Amino acid sequence: MTALEKSKPEEGLWRVEAPVPEIGPDDVLIRINKTGICGTDIHIWKWDNWAAHTVPIPLITGHEFAGEIVEIGRDVTGLSIGQRCSGEGHLIGHESRQSRAGKFHLDPGTRGIGVNEQGAFAQYLRLPAFNVVPLSDAIDDEIGAILDPLGNAVHTALSFDLIGEDVLITGAGPIGIMAAAVARHVGARHVVITDVNPHRLALAGEVADCRPVNVAEEDLRDVVSSLKMKQGFDVGLEMSGNQQALDQMVERLVMGGRIALLGIPPGKSPVDWSRIVFKAITIKGVYGREIFETWYKMIAMLENGLDVRKVITHRFKVADFEEGFQAMLSGKSGKVVLDWTG
Ligand code: NAD
Ligand code: ZN
Repeated sequence: MTALEKSKPEEGLWRVEAPVPEIGPDDVLIRINKTGICGTDIHIWKWDNWAAHTVPIPLITGHEFAGEIVEIGRDVTGLSIGQRCSGEGHLIGHESRQSRAGKFHLDPGTRGIGVNEQGAFAQYLRLPAFNVVPLSDAIDDEIGAILDPLGNAVHTALSFDLIGEDVLITGAGPIGIMAAAVARHVGARHVVITDVNPHRLALAGEVADCRPVNVAEEDLRDVVSSLKMKQGFDVGLEMSGNQQALDQMVERLVMGGRIALLGIPPGKSPVDWSRIVFKAITIKGVYGREIFETWYKMIAMLENGLDVRKVITHRFKVADFEEGFQAMLSGKSGKVVLDWTG
């Protein structure tokens, strides 16, 4: 089968011919139709410090996918050949205290497809049946291929009650933009999204009913007063990994405000803890998606009017995958989707 592999410890990915994976009794084999390129795949493409310390080579990369089940392991029940599906790319164990309590996303032994294990940038993917998420006709393969990052957005946005709240999202990457759409969908009052990249801010305004703010040009304080908020934002969703963005968020939050942190800073970053203490701010770290509660809620929202399709700005056949990565690297894209069919 054709696959995109990290074959060498240098920049790039390579298109290779690899054997179709053999499945075990609890697995399914999925024929991949569409995949999304993630920021994680860009780290692996660039072969930065994180990638070099995390990713074994050679490895088939990719973890955002939609496809169709073509083979079923002996002990699998409840799934059938031909079922369209996406799936959770975090492979968890079942022995930890967290897993045994049903908090699968908190299993400390989690391994990621396309990061630690063979991934989805391939014509076929082996996945434990446990991880499969069936798709209804309402969710096509293109949306199916971005459920992983939409899940990050949903998990973060649903960390706190947003109904009637004023929400600040820092970072208008694909996940921040989708989080803005989710916040609006669940009933936030004002949704403000910041970035320093005008392309991303323009896209945010197209995808979600939100107020994009370029913090390189505009002062968030003016936005707070123009929207007639008394003190500031009730909830912050940090989706940039940028220190200045987090500082701004802390400053512009109300007393007793709440922050969900998804963005990953490049290294240790200084935090003004006394400010957080005196403002009585609650901070929650967010990792991945809740397995499978986030999937359930996100699919329900998609089936009930949540529309994030415009966040997909580029589509390429897999033969042109390098153009897809270049589009991501340009900083002028939203989600980039690769087509594995035909
Ligand atoms: P992205 O890199 O595409 O988007 C980040 C955005 O932040 C960019 O558009 C960038 O211009 C913007 N930014 C930079 N400086 C800023 C500033 N001062 N103020 C506001 N915005 C600023 O990332 P993404 O794919 O949308 O993911 C969002 C974040 O979530 C990333 O940090 C990513 O690493 C992280 N992430 C975390 C998890 C998790 O499980 N915790 C999962 C996926 C992604
Ligand atoms: Zn991803």
